[in-house]
Amino acid sequence: MAYQSLNPATGKVLKTFEPLTDAQLEQKLAQAAQCYETWRRKTYAERAVIVAKAAELLHEKADVYARTLTLEMGKRINEARGEVEFSASILAYYAKNAERFLAPQPLHPTDGEAHMESTPIGVIFCVEPWNFPCYQLARVAGPHLMAGNVLVVKHASNVPQCAIDFEKLWIDAGAPAGLYTNLFVTHDQSDRIIDDRRIKGVALTGSVPAGRSIAARAGQNLKPSSMELGGSDAFIVLDDADMEHTVKWALWGRMYNTGQTCCAAKRFIVVDSVADTFLEKFKLALGALEAGDPLDEKTTLGPMSSEAALVELLGQVETAVSNGARLAMGGKRVDRAGAYMQPTILTDVAPANPAFRDEFFGPVAMFFRVKDEEAAIALANDSDFGLGGSVFTKDVERGKRVASRIETGMMFINNISWSDAELPFGGIKNSGYGRELGDMGIQAFVNKKLVRYVKTDAPV
Ligand code: NAP
Repeated sequence: MAYQSLNPATGKVLKTFEPLTDAQLEQKLAQAAQCYETWRRKTYAERAVIVAKAAELLHEKADVYARTLTLEMGKRINEARGEVEFSASILAYYAKNAERFLAPQPLHPTDGEAHMESTPIGVIFCVEPWNFPCYQLARVAGPHLMAGNVLVVKHASNVPQCAIDFEKLWIDAGAPAGLYTNLFVTHDQSDRIIDDRRIKGVALTGSVPAGRSIAARAGQNLKPSSMELGGSDAFIVLDDADMEHTVKWALWGRMYNTGQTCCAAKRFIVVDSVADTFLEKFKLALGALEAGDPLDEKTTLGPMSSEAALVELLGQVETAVSNGARLAMGGKRVDRAGAYMQPTILTDVAPANPAFRDEFFGPVAMFFRVKDEEAAIALANDSDFGLGGSVFTKDVERGKRVASRIETGMMFINNISWSDAELPFGGIKNSGYGRELGDMGIQAFVNKKLVRYVKTDAPV
């Protein structure tokens, strides 16, 4: 499939790009491998000059980058600007802190001395999604480039201009040729890249089917991989929650990025005593959103990323309803040009309904009423996903106890699942494995080498 920029707010094609020929791909892989040989030997301070410069440029031109995000995938302009600024702060953070994360660690053997060294492993292949077209790239580039690795990156086919912008950022920052390479490649070429002996690791952020395919390929090649996949995060509301605070986060947690966020709140699990109040206020908040041009700062409901994504989501809602779910609101496309979906709430989603185990990647919330805290925990854990989740209660210690019992990669108290430059991000079950960012993230593609010294004679 060709790489195509298409504005989902208007349906207008902006630009089309052809995938690389095999010869072009070979030239780019060779250049990346060659770059690694010099980049691996640079000091952290030398690498930081380039990575910090990229952070600075991203920050300086945030408005320009943000506009491309909005045009290609419909993200509201304020959110796009926030994403670009956050991406800049990720790069700056790893420029400053990578050496601390990767410093040799002394061990304490019974005899002699030992330590662990962290060294880069080579060219890493990253496959990235369109929903955070800048942040996703910064999330791999900051840590892995500072660790001394080199990146070749396949971005999603609907955000090619974002992909080009991010590659150019590195050239503008003075990076050596091959340090960060954008690849417009097909899925077949992607498989062959994973097979290529110059590729030493594979990082994917994307859907479960993509994860199964790419992880299997990496596994066949015995290459390390990290998988950041989908989610269906629980948003648990306990009887003592601060309702005003909770509903504001419920709105943001479900509707940020028009609901197209892996760690968005997707299953609203509310204890019976406050369920009616929550549902009423949540409906009011969702109902107040108005569809508009995502480039207009006043717009409160942007389009989905594409017509195909909208049609798929409408189909999921239809299936949910035909299997017994009820629509508390929404369920249809917005009556205007562009890929706009009404904010939607589904109730009465029984465990046998396919929706119960699905990820709704858009503005569709599932609402569940439960008896008490125990029932909320049990329902939250009855999911094939395990990315993030949140719990709302005035009692933070109670929140921590509930958080400990949820089977997921990240839990947030009185807040929604989110990402910070310095904290690990990732999940379990069908949400994938491994972590990006933080100490765990930067260690994903380094060789943890044991170095041992003990003065002893060989046995006779
Ligand atoms: P997707 O279809 O899996 O696409 C993601 C990336 O994978 C794109 O670059 C896509 O390329 C590529 N891809 C898909 N199948 C492939 C294959 N067989 N071989 C090689 N490349 C392949 O996912 P999406 O629908 O765009 O993104 C949404 C999904 O990502 C959701 O499930 C969401 O939850 C998840 N996500 C997870 C995180 C996280 O951190 N856990 C973050 C963001 C999104 P093409 O565009 O060329 O198909």
